[in-house]
Amino acid sequence: MSDKSKAKQMMMRAGIPVVPGSDGAIKDMEMAKKLASEIGYPVIIKAAAGGGGRGMRVVEKEEDLEKSFWSAESEAMSAFGDGTMYMEKYISNPRHIEVQVLGDEYGNVIHVGERDCSMQRRHQKLIEESPAVILDDKTRAELHQTAVNAAKAIGYTGAGTFEFLYDQRDNKFYFIEMNTRLQVEHCVSEMCSGLDLIEWMIRISQGERLPEQKDIKLSGHSIECRITAEDPKSFTPNPGKITKYVAPGGRNVRMDSHVYEGYSVPPYYDSMIGKLIVHDIDRNRAIAKMKVALDELIIQGIKTTKDFHINMMNNDDFINNLYDTNYLAKH
Ligand code: ADP
Repeated sequence: MSDKSKAKQMMMRAGIPVVPGSDGAIKDMEMAKKLASEIGYPVIIKAAAGGGGRGMRVVEKEEDLEKSFWSAESEAMSAFGDGTMYMEKYISNPRHIEVQVLGDEYGNVIHVGERDCSMQRRHQKLIEESPAVILDDKTRAELHQTAVNAAKAIGYTGAGTFEFLYDQRDNKFYFIEMNTRLQVEHCVSEMCSGLDLIEWMIRISQGERLPEQKDIKLSGHSIECRITAEDPKSFTPNPGKITKYVAPGGRNVRMDSHVYEGYSVPPYYDSMIGKLIVHDIDRNRAIAKMKVALDELIIQGIKTTKDFHINMMNNDDFINNLYDTNYLAKH
């Protein structure tokens, strides 16, 4: 589903709660103004072809609409070659919570739990964890069922993710987009379920049947830190040669990376050079394990976000789970 506004329309028809917004693409500025006043400020302008937080602008008031619209559109044009834009109500201070699903060719859909990806910078995920301990059991079960229903409604096969914004104030969640692929953060779901999601994508494509939901056992807590070749304070890219590399190890510590000592990080691509994932019996133990693993990780020659993650694992707001998608912008 490359056109996100169409995906939203399909979800609405399937009875899935979505963020209030435009019914498809915005045609001109007049339409944008009318829509924004109907939806009510703040609104967010988004690229239909968007990804990685690009082509997105939050607009607080009508005076800023025109400028924000053009800058979002030109960013979308240069990033995706497609300037189709749509608009949504901007949910203030939400949590980003998403559900991993698998569908087979026989109409069976199961979920593999949810992930909390609320620690973001400029709408890009930095830390992901599973489960989302902010949810009570009832809301969690509703969220899982909503994602399963949505996948069934579109006859989805393979691995996919339904992304939601969760409003803590009224305990409501809204669908924002579906990722019809494996995501960077899939590993935390693998750690909690013991499933290999890539293996299952291949098995599904070979015509195998999925296990039943009752056979999927989710346990413990998993956290992933995205390690990027960036300055840990300014997040500016820092490509170059890695002069020393030591990956952490131990039980339920996983370092997914393509780098090695002597490897040169090129300046042309995404700056992510690895993902550090841990699993333990609960969130506090997982945070403690992540601290040790980050301490063991050695990457020299370039700047990385390792120190950012060490700070976060020692940050009281993170430890007490008191944050939302705007936490880094505010602090
Ligand atoms: P992308 O595909 O570019 O990652 P998403 O639609 O998944 O874009 O949104 C990424 C992030 O942008 C969300 O996790 C959230 O932080 C923010 N965001 C998107 N839509 C809204 C909205 N309607 N209200 C508030 N925040 C939003």
